Amino acid sequence: MSGQDAPAPPSPPGAPPDDPRILEVLSRWWGFDRLRPLQEEAIRAALDGTDSVVVMPTGGGKSLCYQLPPLVNGTTDVVVSPLVALMKDQVDALEAIGYPAAAIHSAMSPEERAGVRDRLAAGELRLLFASPERLVNTGLLDLLAEVGVKRFAIDEAHCISHWGHDFRPEYRQMSLLRERFPRASIHAFTATATPRVRDDIAAQLHLRAPRMLIGTFDRPNLCYRVVPRTDRIAQTLAILGRHRGEASIVYCISRKETERLAARLAAEGILARPYHAGLHATERRRTQEAFARETIDVVVATVAFGMGIDRSDVRLVLHTSLPKSLEAYQQETGRAGRDGLAAECVLLYSSADVFSWESLCRKSAAESDLDPEEQERLVAGQLEHLHAMRRYAQAARCRHAALSEYFGQAYGTEPCAACDVCLGETENLPDSTLTAQKLLSCVARTGGRFGVRHVGEVLRGARSEAVLRHRHEALSTFGLLAALDQRTVENLLHQLLDQGLLDRTPGERPVLVLNERSWEVMRGTRDVVLLEPRAGRTRAARADTDDWEGVDRGLFERLRAWRRRVADARGKPAWTILDDRALRGIARERPATPAALLRVKGIGEKRLADFGAAILEMVAGREA
Ligand code: ADP
Ligand code: ZN
Repeated sequence: MSGQDAPAPPSPPGAPPDDPRILEVLSRWWGFDRLRPLQEEAIRAALDGTDSVVVMPTGGGKSLCYQLPPLVNGTTDVVVSPLVALMKDQVDALEAIGYPAAAIHSAMSPEERAGVRDRLAAGELRLLFASPERLVNTGLLDLLAEVGVKRFAIDEAHCISHWGHDFRPEYRQMSLLRERFPRASIHAFTATATPRVRDDIAAQLHLRAPRMLIGTFDRPNLCYRVVPRTDRIAQTLAILGRHRGEASIVYCISRKETERLAARLAAEGILARPYHAGLHATERRRTQEAFARETIDVVVATVAFGMGIDRSDVRLVLHTSLPKSLEAYQQETGRAGRDGLAAECVLLYSSADVFSWESLCRKSAAESDLDPEEQERLVAGQLEHLHAMRRYAQAARCRHAALSEYFGQAYGTEPCAACDVCLGETENLPDSTLTAQKLLSCVARTGGRFGVRHVGEVLRGARSEAVLRHRHEALSTFGLLAALDQRTVENLLHQLLDQGLLDRTPGERPVLVLNERSWEVMRGTRDVVLLEPRAGRTRAARADTDDWEGVDRGLFERLRAWRRRVADARGKPAWTILDDRALRGIARERPATPAALLRVKGIGEKRLADFGAAILEMVAGREA
């Protein structure tokens, strides 16, 4: 951690905040009864006017940390946000609870912008969202100085650092804020930040002895699975079959793939649409809105989709190809289960993706204007990220533990009850050690001069042109694993690489080489566990069963249908009306009076006034 003053006294997780004003505002406006770990400390830093860097995983509840303080002391605060869609969604959600907030961005008409400026000047707004460009280039700062803004929140603050995975040059201008508003406090928020990025954020924003508030990266309500990819379409259909009628995001790498897959799903009667950056803006917006209003269930997308999507009830995030980093994976899977209810994240893994990404990295670096040395550094950095991702996919260990540790946090509760490995869905290969010995001795016999593909061909006894040219059909290891197919043998070699029991040289044509540990395996002094490389069965994660405990499913579905109608009539995303956690709460408690309804999480005074009567009718079974 870098420069900090006395840290806020730690509060036990989930404890009610000791400042009664915070609790009052929280329950009156949001209908929540407690703050999450770290939210209280982040809010206290804001109220104290102490700079802070708040790192919480997606879904951790960052927005509340900057939304709540202005209500407590009646200020107008500013939130810098990178994407228009993101701002719009938040403003919609805030308006649904009667919160005076507005966004100012380039997609608005000059009249609309003037309207927002008027409300700002009149002191009506508690929060103003703005993009970095708009903030520094339009004289807006002068107006903010006039109304005496005392607090800035920088959302997605990692965009300011070129060490991060999503650098945006326009964020650099945020360093101006300190100079222009020396007496205001600045609060940076991000979901992904290694210590290097964290420190860079603090330095770039000229933060003064910021409180570093680092949350827990683990998302216990997400169940992670990695499944060897054998048939993209059949597997996608089978997995979506577990989530009929629920919100799902399916990620593909190429635009063409998203269109093909979406068409296939639609042909199967699934309400699915493609989404990628090549589509017309209107088309993209229509898909986003249809998803937000629950008129479609599935979006098949490239990673271009999601930054602006806050739909909190996404129950499945399925990657049909390998993401290029664990940072990206954490961010994309972070869109699942933001309401805290159980959700599933499945990755269809094939080592072929690793090779595609590698050559793509090299190609795009070669085509850039960087000089050769910089190109090399760029490629090396990207490959490091890629290989961490691959290790995750191929490791035979708890996914929650692997993710937490990657982000620098120990994970204490293995087995976790929410990943394929801990649920026992993966199977160990019988005779793993013996198989590993065969694989490694083939690397030894071929002299450590060949790659995964070639060694694989020798092991399964393929008389390929290359095998014959090197006379490898004469080796004693030729055909040792003839019962397996090429894909399986390559997968096993990758598992050895991932466990550090075998090495691969860097560069254009990587070859397999033995290391110290390889020899221990071959000498029989080290045991090996390899995973059976095929799709297993799935079991229900514990969180999923718990979240449905006592819920009247019929009532829940009727509430959802009602919510969809309300959302349509208002032209707002369905989750801004009420999220799934609140709907399940109602369908579990079956409140009979307004007071009982207020006790359901997510029901505050505004929602009670707006929807209380309709909801109580439905619970009583008297809906229209
Ligand atoms: P982030 O911006 O960190 O990704 P959000 O701010 O969107 O996360 O919050 C994620 C979800 O958690 C939202 O549905 C929000 O309503 C809910 N949430 C946030 N804080 C609380 C709380 N203290 N109690 C209950 N739910 C909360
Ligand atoms: Zn686990």
